[in-house]
Order: sequence, then structure tokens, then C-alpha cells
Amino acid sequence: MKNSLFLTLLLPTVCASAQTVSSPNGTLQAHLSMSPEGCPMYCITLDQDTVIQPSALGMKTSIGDFTKGLKMLKSSDKTAVSGTYTLPNAKKHDFAFEAVEQTFTYANEEGKEVWDITFHIDNQNVAFRYKVYPQRDRVACLVEEESTAYTMPLGTTTFLCPQMTPQTGFARTAPSYETYYEYDGEMGKNGHGRVFTFPALFKVNAPQETKKGTIDGNIWVMLCETNVGGNYCASRIENVGDNQYHLTYPEMTEFGGVGTSAPGIMLPDYIPWRTITVGRTMAPIAETSIMWDLVEPQYAASQEYKYGKSTWSWIIRMDDSCNYDEQKEYIDFASEMGWEYLLIDAWWDRNIGYEKIEELSKYAQSKGVGLFLWYNSNGYWNDAPQGPRGKLHRLMDRRREMAWLQKAGIKGLKIDFIGGDKQQCMQMYEDILFDANEFGLMVIFHGCTLPRGWERMYPNFAAAEAVRASENLSFGQNDNDLEAKAGTMHPVLRNAVANMDFGGSALNKRYSKGNDRGTYRRTSDVYALATAVLFQSPIQNFALAPNNLTDAPAWAVD
Ligand code: CA
Repeated sequence: MKNSLFLTLLLPTVCASAQTVSSPNGTLQAHLSMSPEGCPMYCITLDQDTVIQPSALGMKTSIGDFTKGLKMLKSSDKTAVSGTYTLPNAKKHDFAFEAVEQTFTYANEEGKEVWDITFHIDNQNVAFRYKVYPQRDRVACLVEEESTAYTMPLGTTTFLCPQMTPQTGFARTAPSYETYYEYDGEMGKNGHGRVFTFPALFKVNAPQETKKGTIDGNIWVMLCETNVGGNYCASRIENVGDNQYHLTYPEMTEFGGVGTSAPGIMLPDYIPWRTITVGRTMAPIAETSIMWDLVEPQYAASQEYKYGKSTWSWIIRMDDSCNYDEQKEYIDFASEMGWEYLLIDAWWDRNIGYEKIEELSKYAQSKGVGLFLWYNSNGYWNDAPQGPRGKLHRLMDRRREMAWLQKAGIKGLKIDFIGGDKQQCMQMYEDILFDANEFGLMVIFHGCTLPRGWERMYPNFAAAEAVRASENLSFGQNDNDLEAKAGTMHPVLRNAVANMDFGGSALNKRYSKGNDRGTYRRTSDVYALATAVLFQSPIQNFALAPNNLTDAPAWAVD
């Protein structure tokens, strides 16, 4: 354990309110207090029910330990904030929010401000972010550790997704958010002996008073974060004993060991927003817009991106199908279905080649179909051999490649195998998206992190995998046996915070070209059609195949 500070603090379990910030309707509240050691604490209540018990705030940096020995210097006035915006690439089009914000500033023993924290509270979400201040002539620092903790009420159960062990899995490409959530698990443990990824869901046991007396009740609590790009690392939570979770940073071994675990910031500057979404049903979780309310577009769209439906041969026919003839067959299929796009997956560089891709792209355009091309992200951070590789990680190579893609009329990229959450990874995502926008390209990431506000931050961001996705249905029977159960969570949890390229909705009964070999699909055709809508992505890569025109029920194809 990196930090035992949290275990040695004497934590009160009652949500005392020295300072309180309330949502516009007054039901959701954050309360601030101070531990005897001078550690600022917060807790959260919904209608007086405790949602998060008193939990630590603060951070240790390369220029000082700002976790204790602090006092509150001042607080701002409460401010009503509101906004509206539209997104063409997110789970809905029109967004509006109303919230209350208040900032509290903490100082060290000399009375010098060290950090402040702004709470942003609407009727469903509590978000907060730190701003760290310079100390004397130090105007930059590494944030080595964040104290931010989440102490859950006893009796809470968990819906958490274990982080994969870095540099394991296929060709050392882990971690990439591709494990199963455990449902209704117990607190007091870490999945796979390690941390849990966002979004993290908790079910707090909160008995409710009704006319018929006290009944069992639950409060759902989802933890996440937003506004994470090249400005910071992506975070996760770790159980540090019993009901105590705290926010941690990437492991040094992620991303092939390249880059730092501790993010660096200029001073003064912000740490990303930590978000807590709360509801007595799952609706506030599924419907939250907090990931986008708190971010701003990082650049203007170079053009109006057209999102739409797509298909891909790889999921049914695998690597060998990424050849000229079969991709032409799939272009015809996409056109016949009235779909806008086709994704050509790994090894197209070897099996088709750059010149023939240009031909295919012309043919596709003549049929009203735009092409996405797959790329390997590496580089020097894993051993994934699939081509094309080595084309995106250096700026000059990337921009040359993207200039060719634009010239060839390609509409977007699917970029795979970026295993890690370090600030250097997040910077690479952002750099790729920024460059792609200049060349009019949309981007899908696979084998990747969870997007944190990206639909609004990056207008050409289409989707990310960050889920145990359809490829596993082709790889093994067990995933098919678990498909429907796992699928129940995606619309309300994974999709609550970001677009998801699941690549599903197969109508094949078996995952193979002839529909007569391979793993067996256990779900119904109705399930396939339902998830075509419920699994949300602005580019839907459906796992349908040309043979489905004749071997799937006509009503399903219609
Ligand atoms: Ca994957």
C-alpha cells in the first residue's frame, strides 16, 4: 500500500456539517469538516441519508505534503451556474444543467494558500476539483499522491471492474478495461489483487420510511472523473481496507513502463474533476451528463462530422478476411443495408496494401460507404504484431499517414492497444485526436482507457472500447454464456459516462464465416436488435455479415 495515512486517521462516521453546499433542490449535499490532524474532509448526503462518510481530501506533491496540518483560509460565495450545449456524438443531443458551485481555500501552518477545492452540485451529481497553488518560486510540480477518499457506509455492496495487471494479456497490451464487473460484491477487497476502474458503482443500503413503515431501500452511487486529457493521468480507486476506497494513479509498469506514474502540472492549475452521481434508482446514473457539463471543447471541429452505422468483417471472419475481395463484399453489404461506414480491421496493410486501399475507398465512396481503417498504436509499449504499426506514435509519421488517409478519402481510424492511464498516454490520445481533426478524421480507440469527457472535449472522438467487448464472443464460449448478464450493465453504467464501441448485435448463430463453426451465440435475435440501440456509440460497428441477408430472419434484417 502506497499510503497508510488513511488508515491511521480517526475517521468519524457521522456526516457533520461545518460547511455545506446543497444542490439547487436542496436534497443532495456535500459537507466539509476538518480532522484533528488538519486534514480537510468531505461527506455526501441525499435527503439526510449518508451516501459517503467523512473522507479525506488533499494531495502530496513534489513541492510539499498538502494532506494535513491545514486550515480553511476562506470560502467563496455560493454561485448558481447553468449551461446548455449540444453534442452530435453522445448519448443524447441537447444538454442542460443547473448547479451550485462554491470554492473553499486551504492554507498551511504559515497561512499560505496551498490548494482550493470547488464543489459543483446539481440534483444528481456532486463534482469537485482541486486547484493547486505555487509555493514561493515553485510554479510546477508532480502530484505524487492524492488523498481523495470514498468511505462508504457499512452494508454497501459493490459493482466494480477489476483493473488488469499491467503488461499481461495479449502481447503485454493490458490494462485496457476489458474485465467483467462483479455484481453486488462485498467491500474490503481489490479485484485481481489490484485496483478497480471507473465507472465504479456502489449500492448503499438506506432503509426508507414509507406509509407502510420502514422498507429496504438503496442509494446508487457512481464514482468517475472527467476533463482528463493530456493535462493529467487517468485515475482509479483502490480498497484500502473495509469500507474505505481511495483514488490512486497509474502503476509504473503500465504502457510498457514508459512514462511517469505521478502526473505533472503547472501552478496554479487544476486536478481533473472527481464526480459522484447519486440516485435512489439507476435513472440518475444512466442519464447523468456530468462528464460533459464540466468540460469545454479543446478545439473546433474542422468540419461537420457525420456519425452513423457501420459493419466490420473481422468479428465474424477474423484476420484473414481483411483482404481486397472480402472487403469489397462487405462494402456491397454495407451499401445494401443502407449503412454509412465499413471498418477494415488489422493487417490491411499486409493483405491489401496502400494502393489497393485507395481503390477500395473509391469503390466504397461510389456505393455511399465511408471507410475506417484499423491501426496498431505502438510504438514501444507492447508486443502486438498486427500492422500497420509504428505509424502513429511520432508526430511527423502520424501527420504523413493522416495526410494520406485524407487524400484517400478515408473517414476515420480505429486505434488499438494503448494499455495505460499515465499522463503520457492521455497526451497521446489527445495528440492523435487533435491531428486527426486537422485531416478530417474521426477516431475510435480500442484496447484503451475509458474516455473522460471526450465526446465534448474532442469533436472528432467517436468511441472507445473500454469494455469486455464482442471480440471475446468470437474468442471463447464462456463469454457467450455470460453475454446477456454482462449486457444488462452496459447501458446504465458503462454507457452512462462514455460512448462504447462494443461491436455487437451479431445475427450469426456461430462466430464463423460459414455460420457453422466457432462459438455459439446464446442470445436471441431480439437481444441483438435491442443492443443495437441500447449499446450507444455514434459509430455503431454491427457484427452483421453478408450471409445474414439469407440466413437470418428477414424481420431482424429489416
Ligand atoms: Ca479489445
